Amino acid sequence: MPQPHFLLLTFPAQGHINPSLQFAKHLIRVGVRVTFITTVSAGRRMTKVPAAQGLSFSPFSDGYDDGMKPSDDTDLYLSEIRRRGKEAVSEIIITSEDEGKPVTCIVYSLLLPWATEVAREHHIPSAVLWIQPATVFDIYYFYFNGYESAMKDQADKSNSKCSIKLPGLPPLATRDLPSFFNGPNIYHSILSLFQEQMEVLAEEPNAKILVNTFDALEPEALKAIDKFKMIGIGPLIPFDNSLRTDLFQCVSNDYLQWLHSKPKSSVVYVSFGSLAVLAKQQVEEISRALIANGRPFLWVVRNQKYGLEEETEEDKLSCREELEQLGRIVPWCSQVEVLSHPSLGCFVSHCGWNSTLESLVAGVPVVAFPQWTDQGTNAKLIEDVWKTGVRVSADEDGMVERGEIVRCLDLVMGDGEKGKEVRTNVEKWKESAREAALEGGSLDMNLKAFVDDVVQGCN
Ligand code: UDP
Repeated sequence: MPQPHFLLLTFPAQGHINPSLQFAKHLIRVGVRVTFITTVSAGRRMTKVPAAQGLSFSPFSDGYDDGMKPSDDTDLYLSEIRRRGKEAVSEIIITSEDEGKPVTCIVYSLLLPWATEVAREHHIPSAVLWIQPATVFDIYYFYFNGYESAMKDQADKSNSKCSIKLPGLPPLATRDLPSFFNGPNIYHSILSLFQEQMEVLAEEPNAKILVNTFDALEPEALKAIDKFKMIGIGPLIPFDNSLRTDLFQCVSNDYLQWLHSKPKSSVVYVSFGSLAVLAKQQVEEISRALIANGRPFLWVVRNQKYGLEEETEEDKLSCREELEQLGRIVPWCSQVEVLSHPSLGCFVSHCGWNSTLESLVAGVPVVAFPQWTDQGTNAKLIEDVWKTGVRVSADEDGMVERGEIVRCLDLVMGDGEKGKEVRTNVEKWKESAREAALEGGSLDMNLKAFVDDVVQGCN
């Protein structure tokens, strides 16, 4: 029997590539050959990824090989990546067959539901790698399967009252729902991709959803939908920092030396991930809050322009010198290393799902500062379900004021009851996440069962 060969097709964003690379690593560990497919511009940044036995890279052009993607032309971009990606994946399947390495399965990350069409054309099974929590999958599923008007009818104007009830999920407020339900026009094309994703899964007799979560973290959410098999194959975190790639530049890692010089649990780490763009006033409020808070901080402020944005995040800083008397500002960092540093006391996070899992695995309390997409739901889980952090409240214009940020930092890092509760809970979840990732843990068992299932189905 030939070695199982999986294609791992990944959208070219940091938050997609990171868990996909870790998934590749786990597949290789259980004897699968992996061809990692993403775009040329993302692939170019992956040169730092050490070649692993059983892993090869096959980038394709999305038409933006220089890395620039016009941010206001989402429709055009999504249709180009679909057209070119389908051709590329098809060619890889044919070539692999010719080379005696026939493809056993296609696993594709979020926003690429068209991969199932290619898989069907070639009579190959496929599975989606859902890089957000199971809870978010459920919310999208229910939205597109009979609950849209109920979700709208139950929504509370205050935005924060938990009046939306969905099967198997905690009561949700409007601010806990994915932002694509209510956002501006450019969100429509993204929302329709989620709809397409649910539709293609519904057409599959044996649809498999590989979720970057673990059984103990979201037990009800993983079972909330009878129709689908949702498989917890997380946490997909680079525990040993191997096999990673950075789409952003991190010129020096001297911030690690700086972290070494700080007392235990004293540093505030601030990061809004790879995509979120903050209003200039919001950057000012955060700056003033960090100065008023007085604790040392490490703040990731990107210095690369995103799409057609006129300013970088760094350009929005008005008081860099004052800030640097207390903390460090870096354009990017090795986040997993930072989070596991003993000097870390708290993570002010946009609550991207990777960041959320990374903070759980590292046992770091969170000040949840969600911006868009699934982050509101993730903030809800952090604050109300796992109780590993507190969420900032925004004013009517969506601005989070400096006083509110300082209040949340004091709650999480201070000696009060809330701080103690959060610190106890992060230790509990850290243990649980690590158990899930051990040999014989839920990640290992579920992954092996999935691979066996696919391989046996192909024989
Ligand atoms: N990240 C990093 N260095 C940074 C900021 C972020 O390595 O300075 C990584 C982080 O560890 C995470 C990913 O980038 O794995 C961001 O993914 P997430 O889902 O948290 O947010 P997104 O960028 O997709 O909004």
